[in-house]
Amino acid sequence: MKSNNNNIKKEDWSPEKSEQAMIEGILEGSPDAIGVAVIRLDCGCRKMAAIDKNGEPASKVIMYRDRAESICDKCKEDDGAFMRVNTQFISWVSPEPDAKTKEMVQEKALGIKTH
Ligand SMILES: [Zn+2]
Repeated sequence: MKSNNNNIKKEDWSPEKSEQAMIEGILEGSPDAIGVAVIRLDCGCRKMAAIDKNGEPASKVIMYRDRAESICDKCKEDDGAFMRVNTQFISWVSPEPDAKTKEMVQEKALGIKTH
């Protein structure tokens, strides 16, 4: 049994190559973003959204599936329900914000308590 999301340490996660490409694309269209929330679902689809310094969405939520034309049927049905989230983290724009801001944004955007 894996530990639940509340125990995820942000240092443990970094974007995969395909995610990195998506993140760069999202950031290009979101000048206010300080990072991109990356949510990996148990079916293999991904959910991403740019986040501004207040922890508010700075882009619309983008869902995609690697090497597929569209997201899976399950995601079409439940829109990537929270209960199916495997991993979530924020990929920060460099220079990264200070720890306090990161904590606030993470809590607000992902609901992760980092302490
Ligand atoms: Zn899916």
